[in-house]
Amino acid sequence: KAEDGIRDPLWSRGLGDVYKRQPKDHPRYKSLLAREKLVDASEFVAKQGLIAHGRGEAFDYLLGEQTCLPALSAIKAAASALIEAKNPVISVNGNVVALAAREVARLSEISGAKVEVNLFHRTPERVAGLTKMMKKVGIDALGANADDKIPGLSSERAKCCSDGIGSADVVLVPLEDGDRCEALVNMGKKVITIDLNPLSRTAQTAHITIVDELTRCLPLLSDFVKEKNGLDSFNNKQCLTAVSYTHLTLPTNREV
Ligand code: ATP
Repeated sequence: KAEDGIRDPLWSRGLGDVYKRQPKDHPRYKSLLAREKLVDASEFVAKQGLIAHGRGEAFDYLLGEQTCLPALSAIKAAASALIEAKNPVISVNGNVVALAAREVARLSEISGAKVEVNLFHRTPERVAGLTKMMKKVGIDALGANADDKIPGLSSERAKCCSDGIGSADVVLVPLEDGDRCEALVNMGKKVITIDLNPLSRTAQTAHITIVDELTRCLPLLSDFVKEKNGLDSFNNKQCLTAVSYTHLTLPTNREV
């Protein structure tokens, strides 16, 4: 499948050119589009983010590239948490902005959640670039004037805004790393995450883990918040077990 770019050894525009030659009905179209978006934003997305994306793609492949039923429950539980929140914040990193700026903007508008650029590989240039990308979709993201710290984390990755993550009661952190997820939980925040790896420390640590692809679940989450279609009774551990069961039954629920 060299035409998919899978064997393409470069991070470069070469992959983009490969993508542009694909017809829209190509079976890997969505995957190629996501890769293209990351490559396009490579000035502001850390290269390590490309590796994380690859791991996400692998898990999504195993899940049949569809929203599984347990994930649907988690999305509804997340909708409830956002509806009930007093000061919800959506924490975005480079991958999230590159892949889903519009979806994040819609969720922010519907839920009233603020958006904060919060980076593991933080540089002023990256924060400024990602803030600008959010501005293009109508969102004034916090993040540049970080005046607060997430306790328990070292150096740049601890930085956050007092009027954003610092004072949030509910934080949605898609594609987060385990350390920061745990640190946010330890701060007393209700943490919702989106992570295709049900085994990651983030997935295991968050209060609500949506094991689904970012761009697929965000529109559903926005719809559920809009329709006030939430789920109050939710057990994250049971949900993650159910996701694992979905993995095991895959050969019966997808065309191979
Ligand atoms: P942890 O520290 O939580 O154990 P990690 O160190 O693997 O996890 P990262 O390297 O930051 O964390 O990876 C982020 C996670 O995001 C990965 O588990 C990956 O599966 C997931 N991921 C990547 N792309 C997407 C996507 N588009 N949608 C949902 N999840 C994704």
